[in-house]
Amino acid sequence: MKQAGEQGTLYVISAPSGAGKTSLVGEMLRKDPGLGVSISHTTRPMREGEQDGVNYHFVSRDEFEAMIARGDFLEHADVFGNYYGTSQVWVRETLATGQDVILEIDWQGAEQVRRLIPECVGIFIVPPSAAVLRERLVGRGTDAPEVIERRLAEAAEECRHAVEFDYLVVNDDFDQALGELLSIVRSQRLRMDVQKLRHAQLLAGLAGGL
Ligand code: GDP
Ligand code: ADP
Ligand code: 5GP
Repeated sequence: MKQAGEQGTLYVISAPSGAGKTSLVGEMLRKDPGLGVSISHTTRPMREGEQDGVNYHFVSRDEFEAMIARGDFLEHADVFGNYYGTSQVWVRETLATGQDVILEIDWQGAEQVRRLIPECVGIFIVPPSAAVLRERLVGRGTDAPEVIERRLAEAAEECRHAVEFDYLVVNDDFDQALGELLSIVRSQRLRMDVQKLRHAQLLAGLAGGL
């Protein structure tokens, strides 16, 4: 458990579209109650099966631009021709409660967040091959063929930024990738800079003699 006043860890997860980040993050949240995910604002059209306020906050370009002007976003970017952005207030307030927060954002957003919150932990997810990425995007059945082609065309650019992240997870076998993501979160919680605050009394007691 976190100590009162302890900040949560911010995880920035990026991947080419179709690599499986939304499915993997969904399972991480189910398995680890200490994690929360930021619901982004976007101007892209809602897909069948998506719900406003659950998958995204769906807004018009005018609303999004007004939010930029008000400074509502921690980061925002144009991805595949639509705006996407992360709420500044929600992320900062949630981290302050001690909850760990995941951002599922593109590399441009990750770059902005890294500058603002250098202690964030970056995770990049890749598919096992380009052919599998195409199969997953087609198989998901949520996007028109021209949207899929655009996302595949931009996948290479996204992947060129993989080395800017702290961890790389290959999503070939889903459960293995999920296990690797959860182990990153768990080992982060065991880091000395975190643990020495959480267990200050224990360490002081032990150092004082048994
Ligand atoms: P998906 O990646 O196939 O699930 O498709 P989406 O349309 O949901 O997302 C498209 C891209 O936008 C992905 O690369 C996301 O990482 C990125 N994205 C989603 N939310 C945000 C955000 O708040 N900020 C930024 N910068 N990128 C975002
Ligand atoms: P992203 O959020 O990165 O665009 P999704 O989570 O929507 O990706 O996954 C894209 C598609 O691939 C979905 O239909 C999902 O069920 C499927 N998928 C995800 N991971 C795997 C995996 N390891 N093996 C096979 N299919 C997968
Ligand atoms: P979602 O709606 O997030 O895309 O996925 C629905 C469910 O299917 C989630 O429970 C997710 O974990 C699971 N899922 C998606 N893709 C795979 C996969 O390739 N393998 C397994 N084992 N589960 C998957």
